Amino acid sequence: MEAAELVASRSTCDRLHVGAVITKEKNIIATGYNGSPSGMPHCDDVGHEMEGGHCVRTIHAEQNALIQAAKHGHSTKGTSLYITHSPCYTCAKLIITAGIQNVYFKNLFRESKGIDLLTTSNVYWEELNSDWSHNE
Ligand SMILES: [Zn+2]
Ligand SMILES: [Zn+2]
Repeated sequence: MEAAELVASRSTCDRLHVGAVITKEKNIIATGYNGSPSGMPHCDDVGHEMEGGHCVRTIHAEQNALIQAAKHGHSTKGTSLYITHSPCYTCAKLIITAGIQNVYFKNLFRESKGIDLLTTSNVYWEELNSDWSHNE
């Protein structure tokens, strides 16, 4: 989780800094933070791209982590995902389809629709409070 928070600090959209880390057998295989697609302008430089009250320019941290895993040829099946904020509905769908087994997050974000979907799909999830010292 500390790694996820460190990664979040690289976010290029200051509306919310989110970080994600995918681990397999305790090793980090991919990380992601919310930011613009490769080569596209950053919110920090050109302002947000607002639609319906949300900034839509960025790729979410979870999505970037999944893309990074794919790019580097790591299977996400049976992995664990650590995120600073609970996943949105879209990210939850991707998490489930990617075969991620465990999801740990620190802050419950906006809506519970994503988490409800994880529950329905039998993905284990846990909200880690500010004290995340307990180990699995
Ligand atoms: Zn933005
Ligand atoms: Zn998302």
